Amino acid sequence: MGKLRGWIGRHLRGCVQFMATALGNGYAAGFLHGSIYRGDTKALCLPGLNCYSCPGALGACPIGAFQAVIGNRNYHFAFYVAGFLIFVGALAGRFVCGWLCPFGWIQELLYKIPFVKKLRRLPGEKWLCRIKYGVLLIFVILLPMTVLDLVGQGSPWFCKYICPSGTLMAGFPLAVLNPSIRAGMGGLFLWKTAILVVVALLSLLVYRPFCRYLCPLGAVYGLFNPVAVYRYRIDEHRCTKCGLCQKACKLDIPVYLKPNSMECIRCGECKRACPQEAILCGKRKDVSKKERKIINV
Ligand code: SF4
Ligand code: SF4
Repeated sequence: MGKLRGWIGRHLRGCVQFMATALGNGYAAGFLHGSIYRGDTKALCLPGLNCYSCPGALGACPIGAFQAVIGNRNYHFAFYVAGFLIFVGALAGRFVCGWLCPFGWIQELLYKIPFVKKLRRLPGEKWLCRIKYGVLLIFVILLPMTVLDLVGQGSPWFCKYICPSGTLMAGFPLAVLNPSIRAGMGGLFLWKTAILVVVALLSLLVYRPFCRYLCPLGAVYGLFNPVAVYRYRIDEHRCTKCGLCQKACKLDIPVYLKPNSMECIRCGECKRACPQEAILCGKRKDVSKKERKIINV
């Protein structure tokens, strides 16, 4: 029983990540014909960075949908998408990044490839982590809203010029499967391929570099980490400040000091590593007075 629980603890998140990716991109015919699904569910957002144009995508990426609406001359604001992001963020914060995002999962798989030396952080980590807020503000909000063409239409700047998830999940499959799309690819595709290659190479060295430094969706959900329904607490009576949680965290977060860091993707590694079970989440209560007497704290 203990062994089974251990196995589930180690592999549950990987299984959920696989299922979320497969379910969100379950339109198999799209992969056969090199086309994009355009059914009713495409009007709904998926929680993670899941490209709308992936041949299998059954829903929309919230970041792509947000830019598409605010850049559209017929709309002033993306109320549905903003409401969706607030709802999901308030419920789970960056739990979405750790458990449900396909591109986050792909980076994790790359990180598992054995390499000479894994780095816990890059030089200037603190500043690099802030880039994603600039990406959110400039490429997702300001540029699509303000740079308009002759008919008053904006562009989805983040999707068009940056998003490596779109290149991987949509650009490459469509280029391979659809000759007319392949024929129209030019310099922009090369630029985006270069970004994808850099992110993939970095993923071999550091854990989830795109999520850490560039992802605007992670930036949005991270703002909710301290207040989300699903958040962490440290039981001060149990925590011995041994630091094992930070050691287990691949993002090098000092969990016992900052249990609701905006960088935390809620992977749960720290919880599993804590010998005192001092990291609490969900509805579980702090250790009771009676229990404190028993464990003598
Ligand atoms: S591993 Fe547990 S006991 Fe040790 S510092 Fe972290 S929360 Fe505290
Ligand atoms: S703080 Fe814990 S849950 Fe958050 S990323 Fe680090 S190990 Fe995962």
